[in-house]
Amino acid sequence: MRKRPTKLTAGILASFLIFFVLFGMSCEKVDNSKAKARAPTVVKTKSGIEMIAIPGGWFDMGSKSGSPDESPVHRVWVSSFWMDRFEVIQEQFKKYQLPDPSHFKNPKNPLEQINWTDAALYCNDRSRAEGLEPCYDEETWQCNFHANGYRLPTEAEWEYACRAGTGTKFSFGNDVQKLKAYAWFAENSSGKTHPVGQKKPNPWGLYDMYGNVSEWCNDFYSENYYKDSKEKNPKGPAKAQERVLRGGAWNSSAGSCRSSYRTSDPSIDDTCLASDAIGFRCVRSAPPGDNPNAHPNTSTGEDMTKENPSKKVSKTGFVYDDIYLEHKTTQGHPEAPQRLIAIVDRLKAKGLYSQLFKLSPKPVSSEWLTTVHTPEYVERAKESCEGGAGYLDSMDVPISSKSYEAALAAVGGVLSAIDAVMEKKVTNAFCAIRPPGHHSLKDSAMGFCIFNNIAIGTRYVQKKHSLLRILIVDWDVHHGNGTQAAFYNDPSVLYFSVHQYPFYPGTGSEIEKGSGKGLNYNINVPLPAGSGDADYVRVFREKLEPAALAFSPDFVLISAGFDAHKDDLLGRMKVTAQGFAEMTQIVKEIAEKCCEGRLVSILEGGYHPDGLADSVEAHIQVLMR
Ligand SMILES: [Zn+2]
Repeated sequence: MRKRPTKLTAGILASFLIFFVLFGMSCEKVDNSKAKARAPTVVKTKSGIEMIAIPGGWFDMGSKSGSPDESPVHRVWVSSFWMDRFEVIQEQFKKYQLPDPSHFKNPKNPLEQINWTDAALYCNDRSRAEGLEPCYDEETWQCNFHANGYRLPTEAEWEYACRAGTGTKFSFGNDVQKLKAYAWFAENSSGKTHPVGQKKPNPWGLYDMYGNVSEWCNDFYSENYYKDSKEKNPKGPAKAQERVLRGGAWNSSAGSCRSSYRTSDPSIDDTCLASDAIGFRCVRSAPPGDNPNAHPNTSTGEDMTKENPSKKVSKTGFVYDDIYLEHKTTQGHPEAPQRLIAIVDRLKAKGLYSQLFKLSPKPVSSEWLTTVHTPEYVERAKESCEGGAGYLDSMDVPISSKSYEAALAAVGGVLSAIDAVMEKKVTNAFCAIRPPGHHSLKDSAMGFCIFNNIAIGTRYVQKKHSLLRILIVDWDVHHGNGTQAAFYNDPSVLYFSVHQYPFYPGTGSEIEKGSGKGLNYNINVPLPAGSGDADYVRVFREKLEPAALAFSPDFVLISAGFDAHKDDLLGRMKVTAQGFAEMTQIVKEIAEKCCEGRLVSILEGGYHPDGLADSVEAHIQVLMR
């Protein structure tokens, strides 16, 4: 197992070069980001409040002919959400023993003279009353958009809902004369608020979007925000003095009721000088099970409807650092920096990136490296890279001057992810790192791998965090010979690998079951070339699941190679992104059943840029659920 046959190396190198040339240029990008909006419907919350379930979609935000802060008009995607059909009324507010600050008292009138913080507090109270996770931290007032509870709408959500598919000044067109039918404003309000829902609703069934009271949004206000607002689910500037108000009020001119009109009131936030023209309504991210209109197109990525409201909302960490791009391999080599660029670009394009908890690699002391590798090997790796050697130990591990630094950071990324899970900053994490690790042996580099990231991570969980039993699931198309060797005698680590066989590196037959006390704690499931989603899922259900549940790990690690993808340049398997999603789901369920979901997934192989990006996107979608 220490050294695989040289002939095989040459064969593999030749075959991937040929495949790279043949298929490297043929990938097409499919733009499936354009979601077709469906008709919104009315839903009733547990406490009987009517909301409109609004499917996600694109719209043009802002106005060419409005105030400077409304331009430029820019295209924005908003994920599915629910929005109160009416402004929050006084009798609703009093339900939670909150003192009613309103000037124009009437149980059915909108609540007003409400400052932003008290509006956020109401959202939290209403969430708790319905058993949902509150969105606001009551000290910092930061909004957790992953929570399934109520919150104030983002400015983009508000305008998207207000426009209801229209691009005109008002949702009924440009004729300001018609406003009287839709709104209580300066020309018809007689100087006061009115019971909600008396005027005509907009095309999506929302009442009083114009007039009656101005509505708080979650976003901070910045006059220049539209100039660099992001495309997917923009959430406003990170920090500013004032919050956004939308929709105009009983004392507004017709012009300041327009769909795109933005304002803010610095005197109102967190002071008792609240105005009687300011109220709000709540939104929440759409829960899929309850929402008949939840967008079915998972490829839009950032759609938050994937969250299951009955479960604790999970947060997913994402490890990446530019140093990983500094590990340069030979020209045309498939294990190239471009792999990580493809992953990050895809996550950004699909709006997933911003939802991930970013983690940076931590510095790694040699103490951790030598839990798996010999000090001599660590020293040799350092000297070879920094000394300008082109290869480490063999021709299949090309290196450059910064490869050692990158390899250290790859380990450091895994350790950061483990810490973040243990500190409950995240539920699980994905490490977009390179060089990969699972072929790397105690005292030599192998198969594009320098340090065995996952093996070192395993020892780190055990020694630093005092958890004993670690499950490693390795679905890279190649057998993880280095990881197998590291724990072959060790019953505290269950190593489970499914891989193409016979194939590089030559190990991984079923009869390699561990030895000594480690006997039966090493499970290899070799599969013939050409195996696909159904084969993998069957192996996971029939072999991995029972063994893992019997073992009952304290922590789960995945050697997530995506080179079993159907388009991969090296593997000959037929797994699709959907197959990787199903495998992820099964491993995630094991972690949830055994160890509170503690799971860190570590990138290994995957050499077709689009195939890799598709697979990682699908993998992360499941981790985020
Ligand atoms: Zn591989």
